[in-house]
Amino acid sequence: MVIKDLPQIGSEILRKECAPVQLKEIKTRRIEQIISDLCDSIEEAKLIGMSAPQLGHSLNIIITELRELPHRKVQDIDPLRVYINPIIKNLSKEEEIIYEGCGSVMNGKLFGPVKRPISIEVEALDKNGKKFNMKASGLLARVIQHECDHLKGILFIDKVTDNTKLLSRNNYIKLMKEGKIK
Ligand SMILES: [Zn+2]
Repeated sequence: MVIKDLPQIGSEILRKECAPVQLKEIKTRRIEQIISDLCDSIEEAKLIGMSAPQLGHSLNIIITELRELPHRKVQDIDPLRVYINPIIKNLSKEEEIIYEGCGSVMNGKLFGPVKRPISIEVEALDKNGKKFNMKASGLLARVIQHECDHLKGILFIDKVTDNTKLLSRNNYIKLMKEGKIK
């Protein structure tokens, strides 16, 4: 089911630390429904990552799906992935600053530069409860970090490196198209 009205910045749920999903809960209707709602809603909201608290569930579940969007050319297309209880490790020392936006700051239509490690490793359970380990770099590494921040009640705006560089959605799209920002 597509959830259209995502909780927006200022909603308490976005600032709470999420709880881990118990292994025995993973194949339950409730958890399967949350995952399926996330998968439906990521398309509708034209996002490339989403977390359970963004649908109002304080649980450690995120999804990523890197695909072409109207405002962002995605070179590294990556299929839909589900991560339950994700843990990020082996963050690279090398970091880069890239503009981010967020489905929970969508009404504010703000985009801002955020510095993050360029590569990571993530350990999580898949939707069947099977543990996996994955190395990620570039945009995928960034999206995973952004979504895992949501599970700790952190939003990208908390990490913007320079508030004077915040952009409205329209200016963000314009500068992206002109190749003036990353
Ligand atoms: Zn977000």
